[in-house]
Amino acid sequence: MSVAEEFEKANIAYVAQFDKGHLPLPPGRQVAVVICMDARIDPAAALGLTEGEAHVIRNAGGRASDALRSVIISQRLLGTREIVVVHHTDCGMLTFNDEQLRGIVKKETGHSVDHFAFLPFSDLELSVKEDVDFFKKNDLVLDVPISGYIHDVKDGKITKVA
Ligand SMILES: [Zn+2]
Repeated sequence: MSVAEEFEKANIAYVAQFDKGHLPLPPGRQVAVVICMDARIDPAAALGLTEGEAHVIRNAGGRASDALRSVIISQRLLGTREIVVVHHTDCGMLTFNDEQLRGIVKKETGHSVDHFAFLPFSDLELSVKEDVDFFKKNDLVLDVPISGYIHDVKDGKITKVA
């Protein structure tokens, strides 16, 4: 059975107990969370969120520039008025640099991705501060409260760093 087929099976049980069909489209707590896609992080559980409350924008590293498109949609069309950036310990983005990944892609596909920024980082705290700054200084982003945290994958604790 493929994982997709496992999902279909799991969804049957989910639908049987589902009772959130009445929720409005705009996030109730008017917040957009930009957070890494890391499989160990459950943003809803870690941050106390339930369905309908927040936009959770996930990408590799929880990088701001990668999330910009979604943040603009979140703010301009769906009314969010706060941004929270969350990066985390032991992130895969700490394990490579652009040159290395560009080399891997070139070798395995024959295509050059030298123009591609994969947005890895070597300093976790600095990466959070940079991404908070990215949103604060970007003219396309509303002037709203923006904060940044590091999530520790060992104990689940978040620490504010920006
Ligand atoms: Zn990560």
